[in-house]
Amino acid sequence: MWTNMKTMYEYGIGNTPMMAVELANDNKLFIKQEKYNFLNSIKARTAYYIVKDLNTEEVNGGDESTSGNLGFALRYFLDDMGVDFLCLVDESISKEKLEKLKKHHIDYRVVKRIENLDYRSSRIKVAKELQDSGKYFWSNQYDNRNCMLAHYETTGPEIWEQCKGDIDICFCPVGTGGTITGIAKFLKEKNTNIEIIGIEPMGSTIFGGTDGEYINAGTGLRGPSGLIEKYIDYIDGYYQINDLESVRCCKGLKKEYGLELGISSAMTYAAVLDYSHKEKNKSIVMIAPDGMDSYISVLEDKKYAGDGLKDNEKLIFEQL
Ligand code: PMP
Repeated sequence: MWTNMKTMYEYGIGNTPMMAVELANDNKLFIKQEKYNFLNSIKARTAYYIVKDLNTEEVNGGDESTSGNLGFALRYFLDDMGVDFLCLVDESISKEKLEKLKKHHIDYRVVKRIENLDYRSSRIKVAKELQDSGKYFWSNQYDNRNCMLAHYETTGPEIWEQCKGDIDICFCPVGTGGTITGIAKFLKEKNTNIEIIGIEPMGSTIFGGTDGEYINAGTGLRGPSGLIEKYIDYIDGYYQINDLESVRCCKGLKKEYGLELGISSAMTYAAVLDYSHKEKNKSIVMIAPDGMDSYISVLEDKKYAGDGLKDNEKLIFEQL
């Protein structure tokens, strides 16, 4: 076990600020800003929870399939434990995230997309093969209960405290599903009336729809993860948001509130705005997993400068 382990809060993880913003129709939005975690993303919580229960006598090499945020955080804690780490990324990783891995001398491997598989499924296939080789332990964030527990035991209670229990609905971006399932389980146990809404990029099929391409902001998957399948009853509905809408909301958040949030936060905000136009007097929480600095190249990409979206391409909302 990890003998010199500090508490999560001693590492500077958790207790992230909640910013309140007034929206249309007397709706109030609370933005949980996870970029203020140690290591700059919500994934510090997840990595800490994955690592805290590892048996270092049995594990001599870790590896992870990741969009960058989790890999960065896992490597930090594994280093503290004296365990080697290999980070599996794919070709859709942002330039900034790859630079960060290089700058911090993190051992990484870029997994090429395998025919008939999406990026993440290709990475997962390689992760499984490495684990089967007997030389690696795969932390499997898609089906690791600790990834849910990180948010059930920390993010959920923080949200409840910060909003003093005054919550109607919570919007959360979804990739592996660890964040939404942990928060949902905690909030629903406090008050079954709180609605939980998952947000995925259009083209991701965690909740349904048709597979397609989308920019990688740590969200989306082809089909539901093991965690989502297990805890699907806690989720009341979902939005699917077009990339262009997400990028536009990212720029909008900065312009309107001076908030420099990442693409998955902006995607979530797009769903919040749609909801807020239809409802009134609601207390809305949204999870903002990281900051804008990892996505500058995406924001500057001319592909996302236009505004030629048709209305039905902007977003899809479904009740589960
Ligand atoms: N946004 C970002 C930026 C992320 O890195 C992640 C984690 N991959 C998520 C959202 C989704 O979180 P989860 O994997 O817990 O569903």
